Amino acid sequence: ALAVPDKQVASVCPYCGVGCQLTYNIKDNKILYVEGRDGPANHERLCVKGRYGFDYAHHPHRLTKPLIRRADAPKRGDFTMDPDNVMDVFREASWEEALAFAAGQLKQIRDQHGKKALAGFGSAKGSNEEAYLFQKLVRVGFGSNNVDHCTRLCHASSVVALLEGIGSGAVSNPVMDVTKAEVVIIIGANPTVNHPVAATWIKNAVRNGTQLVVCDPRRSELARIAHRFLQFKPDTDVALLNAMMHVIVTDGLVDREFIESRTVGYEELKQNVEGYSPEKMAPICGIDADTIKYVARLYATSRASMILWGMGVSQHIHGTDNARCLIALALMTGQIGRPGTGLHPLRGQNNVQGASDAGLIPMMYPDYQHVTDPKVQASFEQAWKLPVGTLDSTPGLTVVEVMHAIKKGEIRGMYVMGENPAMSDPDATHARESLAALDHLVVQDIFLTETAYLADVILPASAFPEKTGTFTNTDRLVQMGRQAIDPPGDARQDLWIIQQIAERLGLDWQYSHVSEVFDEMRHTMPSIGGITWDRLEREHAVTYPCVKEGDPGESVVFVDDFPRESGRARFVPVDIIPAAERPDAEYPMVLITGRQLEHWHTGSMTRRATVLDAIEPDPIALIHPLDLAAMGARPGDIVTLESRRGAVSLYARADDSSPRGAIFVPFCFYEAAINKLTNAALDPYAKIPEFKYCAIRASLG
Ligand code: SF4
Repeated sequence: ALAVPDKQVASVCPYCGVGCQLTYNIKDNKILYVEGRDGPANHERLCVKGRYGFDYAHHPHRLTKPLIRRADAPKRGDFTMDPDNVMDVFREASWEEALAFAAGQLKQIRDQHGKKALAGFGSAKGSNEEAYLFQKLVRVGFGSNNVDHCTRLCHASSVVALLEGIGSGAVSNPVMDVTKAEVVIIIGANPTVNHPVAATWIKNAVRNGTQLVVCDPRRSELARIAHRFLQFKPDTDVALLNAMMHVIVTDGLVDREFIESRTVGYEELKQNVEGYSPEKMAPICGIDADTIKYVARLYATSRASMILWGMGVSQHIHGTDNARCLIALALMTGQIGRPGTGLHPLRGQNNVQGASDAGLIPMMYPDYQHVTDPKVQASFEQAWKLPVGTLDSTPGLTVVEVMHAIKKGEIRGMYVMGENPAMSDPDATHARESLAALDHLVVQDIFLTETAYLADVILPASAFPEKTGTFTNTDRLVQMGRQAIDPPGDARQDLWIIQQIAERLGLDWQYSHVSEVFDEMRHTMPSIGGITWDRLEREHAVTYPCVKEGDPGESVVFVDDFPRESGRARFVPVDIIPAAERPDAEYPMVLITGRQLEHWHTGSMTRRATVLDAIEPDPIALIHPLDLAAMGARPGDIVTLESRRGAVSLYARADDSSPRGAIFVPFCFYEAAINKLTNAALDPYAKIPEFKYCAIRASLG
């Protein structure tokens, strides 16, 4: 007979930034099944991950005891993970021993080598309160701004460009606004795979007459229903977008009134795009001049046009420049500040927006307040009851910079909460060697991840359904996630663990409930100042900005002005910068990495979810059938991919959605950790690595 739940708990999906609300159906502390709730972003819809990706929480690999590395267990930068043999490497410890060891070693490094010898990575998988408390621990307990998280690897460049151009790093309009748009441009994003419920709203909009333009080097599923599909050559975003702007300028389709009343810097932009005629750019980006002209005119002249983008735009050494072009397109045409218009970088992880808002980044305190601003520093010293001059006024190191600093001996100790840089960092072999070289690594996670395997201490943490906290989705919706089950064994809530470490570093924190952390957050973050815990309990979700209690929250922003000092947005002209590593005779192909529908990021959760793992159990490379034939391989054969940094072997899958010469590989498979091949070259502004382009070669076997 089917089990009947004894409890139903309203919460939020743990995976992507769409932030679907769901109900956990529980019996005997086990999740039986999950259903969609009528949340603002999903209206009862869920994708395969949200619906079937929950039983990772009950997986036998869950960490249930604190672990300490055995003295005779060498750290290796590379390894084959075998959770069953974990006790060869680690021994169980009590919480008291593990916490004392973890914090004691961090303290010793801080006292001997200075505050900047420590760093912390938090996670967009955690709640807002966890992100806030973690960054506070690093800033106050460690004493530097060396704190970052996976936003550095996904939309850091979009955020830099947005803050610079329009004064806010978040979206201007919610995804659902596609239903109010006449024209929607999706560039460098594959929502059907990465934001599946958002894709359903886009499909609904197209059915109701919205004209969809998909721009991408890979043909996504949405391209099938697009009014136009522009399959531009990889790495040529700026050529395509500057050419579109050239058309809009030369055809006189700019919104003069908007430009004059609400922007600065237009003349410089206009001058810059003069050299980017569609005829000149067509051979570079691979899109004919007439199509560029058609799409530019369509976007500029519609009543309401909206742009959504993903990591195809952001994960380049010119990721910030790509986003600057998208912002300029919206500004020059006045396609922002109204329903159905605007700019929407589709945020990846379910709380990457919230974790960034909460200050889990090295250059800004919560709410994007600069660490270099003495007034901001003073306000946080006051809020956190610290003596004047305590906080560090210099920006900290970003994710990839931390790995280099470890190699140089500058960073010697780290605390990693919920991140898996051994899988997610570019040039992963280098990242693993760096992690292995630390004097002391503390990892807090729910599984023995590839990063945890290199730790000195592992602290068993809580999964999403095991804790209460708030999460902010891609639409700026702050939503309540509620505890549905208890953590297994001796695993503990992440907030409790952070506070235990803080206490052992000499901090006297007295948060008895997660709501007290949220309350402190809203008093240091003006954008959520009006959101109370009670209201979230009652309403489940509130959009920010919500400055005063009782404010409804603004889903569409920049209606009257932009949150920059002048109130005006700024155009930033850009030129073409080629990828850091181009194909050549030795490595003639291009590697593009990303995600697949059934798996999430480094796979630590979804590969332990029974249904999802059954659908996609093996590492795969998507290769054009003609490229497969050229290497003498057939679908299902093992192929080896190599770059200058490493090699992996995995199964070939025939796929003609990428152009010839470009191979796509998801980064979730530890057996074929594709980031061993990727290039750690960084965008100079956002320090985001170039995951979307590096040179490789492929061979059968
Ligand atoms: Fe979860 Fe995203 Fe799927 Fe919604 S679309 S169910 S948030 S993974």
